[in-house]
Amino acid sequence: MKVLKFGGSSVATIEKIQSIAAYLKERAKQEKMVVVVSAMGKTTNHLIELAHAISANPNQRELDRLLSIGEQQTIALLAMALWEIEVPAVSLTAYQVGIRTTGYHTKSTIKQVETETLLDQLDSHEVVIVAGFQGINYLNDITTLGRGGSDTTAVALAAALGCDCEIYTDVAGIYTMDPRVYPQAKKIKEISYYEMMEMASLGSKVMEPRSVELGQKYGVKIYVGKTLSDEEGTYIMNSELISEEKVISAASLNDKIIHVKLLQEGHEPSVVAHVFKVISDHQVNVDVITQHVTPLMTEVEFTCSQEEEAFLAEAMNQIKSELPDLKVSLNTHVAKVSVVGIGMRHAVGVAAKIFQILEENHIEFKQVATSEISISLIVDLDDGKKACQAICAAFDL
Ligand code: ADP
Ligand code: ASP
Ligand code: MG
Repeated sequence: MKVLKFGGSSVATIEKIQSIAAYLKERAKQEKMVVVVSAMGKTTNHLIELAHAISANPNQRELDRLLSIGEQQTIALLAMALWEIEVPAVSLTAYQVGIRTTGYHTKSTIKQVETETLLDQLDSHEVVIVAGFQGINYLNDITTLGRGGSDTTAVALAAALGCDCEIYTDVAGIYTMDPRVYPQAKKIKEISYYEMMEMASLGSKVMEPRSVELGQKYGVKIYVGKTLSDEEGTYIMNSELISEEKVISAASLNDKIIHVKLLQEGHEPSVVAHVFKVISDHQVNVDVITQHVTPLMTEVEFTCSQEEEAFLAEAMNQIKSELPDLKVSLNTHVAKVSVVGIGMRHAVGVAAKIFQILEENHIEFKQVATSEISISLIVDLDDGKKACQAICAAFDL
């Protein structure tokens, strides 16, 4: 048995859905398949626009109901396309499968996947098609898993069924850098969960971060390749199985972030603690944090994803009303440039080399953050691409 996932651009038209159906018909001769699909093309974006035409801050429960319909359209169309070529297929929503989620609307996490219905349906059908990106919470309300969440559905189903997962998308695998930003990027044959997780959470949107985390936790072998292509893609696996350990394996660019600056007179640590408590109460996932203290003032900066904008705005409103003297500024004209590599754990001089590359290219950075296997810099949005290209060229990525 296999779980296959086809992303939005792979199912963007009826012709593409029909081609996938023909491909599945061939594969169904050898194995049973659970197929997870995303919404067609830019459907999810259009649904978000519809919601925002009604409200700047739409009711989150109703927003999730709206967002989940994109995937439901695709599962029905793919099932029809399969029946049309005489392949017994059935489509299932997350509710029918029993994909249980926890957490907030629009960014909930999968906590359990029931397999009974899936296995029953696999007995009587060759292909079972499941709507990605959605789940149901303890109230049986529909929730969604955050943008790109169909990857997570696919890996969670593979984990529950104990099988491998194949992710099909519009690129032929994981590259050292987003090929749209750096066309000379090289395809990676094998990458560790650890590095892929870091890349994904730093902005390489080819895989949703939690899908990789689940893959690692449950030992799901993940293959990423191009839809309907014979070109060999990338395997995501345990690092012990990978012979080559590079200092820098990949770079990434995230241009969908918000940079927040807080300015306070004097230095009162309890204010900083309170501010971050309010932010976390509003479920905002804070990234790079820096603090700068002088005898006269305290400056705290942090970043978060633009997807958190609505939650951040609520948190900031509360903070402004409680601490009217605190100066708050938000900037979305920023980008995060990162390099990732498992070999960085033992290497020296990576930061020095990056600073030199930026200096040579006249690029200034606002903040730097490091983890054991990555270095990230916050730069002006206009410098993001240029910084990535210079770093990729210098590190031969
Ligand atoms: P899907 O709709 O199939 O889920 P996504 O748009 O979510 O596809 O992800 C695929 C895109 O990810 C590619 O088109 C590519 O531009 C982008 N991407 C970002 N970083 C990378 C990378 N390191 N390797 C490959 N693709 C990447
Ligand atoms: N349709 C959802 C999105 O656009 C989920 C996905 O494509 O993975 O984010
Ligand atoms: Mg995706």
